[in-house]
Amino acid sequence: MSVVRLCHLYPDEMSIYADRGNIAVLARRLEWRGLRLDVTASELGDALDDGHDIYYLGGGQDRDQAIVAHDLAGAKADALRSAAADGAVVLGVCGGFQLIGHGYTGTDGARMPGVALIDADTVAETGPRLIGDVILDADLDGEQRTVVGFENHAGRTRLGPDVRPLGRVVHGHGNDGRSGHEGAVRDHVIGTYLHGPLLPKNPWLADVVLRWALEHAGASQVLDPLPDDLEVAAHAAAAARAGVRR
Ligand code: GLN
Repeated sequence: MSVVRLCHLYPDEMSIYADRGNIAVLARRLEWRGLRLDVTASELGDALDDGHDIYYLGGGQDRDQAIVAHDLAGAKADALRSAAADGAVVLGVCGGFQLIGHGYTGTDGARMPGVALIDADTVAETGPRLIGDVILDADLDGEQRTVVGFENHAGRTRLGPDVRPLGRVVHGHGNDGRSGHEGAVRDHVIGTYLHGPLLPKNPWLADVVLRWALEHAGASQVLDPLPDDLEVAAHAAAAARAGVRR
């Protein structure tokens, strides 16, 4: 049986918006296809093994994020960069998205270092937090799909020339409330502000992540389609709540 190895970075500090739900979805969608997800946690002070197929970094309050930022950019950065260069998937959600970029200047003005897997930089604004339902037209692997989620962030993220957005904002604020961009993608590294959690109502995105992970694991399995009735209903409900019917 093929096994996909996932490393959950800082589950104690960076799991603010049901991040464990994203991992549960990846595990279940593999199980339904006769495959398995092995989940390992990497906490503060732990060494990071670069042999995983997926690295997951969720969201956090500025206070917790500041603690993990220095640990991540210190002892763990080389392993994470080498894994990403080798084609492993890195999924950073909200605070995690900010820390896989160049860094995040938080609401108190203190700079948190990032690991620069993507060309993006984030600065918190003292103005209103960017909160609410979001709909995107996302583009991955040559496929265009709608992605839905919920955002809640003080940080405004600007993308540099070496990265492209995950999608175009149809409804909501996105990276900075101005650019019309949401998230960022480079190779198999994805950053996004969408949580709530993200993957239960976006099964297409979950399967893109799993396809890339299986490729990294050297497994030849093709992911058979799943019925996804509940997932499609959840997606439609989130889109309807945002006021967009599709
Ligand atoms: N602390 C970050 C911000 O406010 C990220 C928030 C989050 O992860 N929900 O921008």
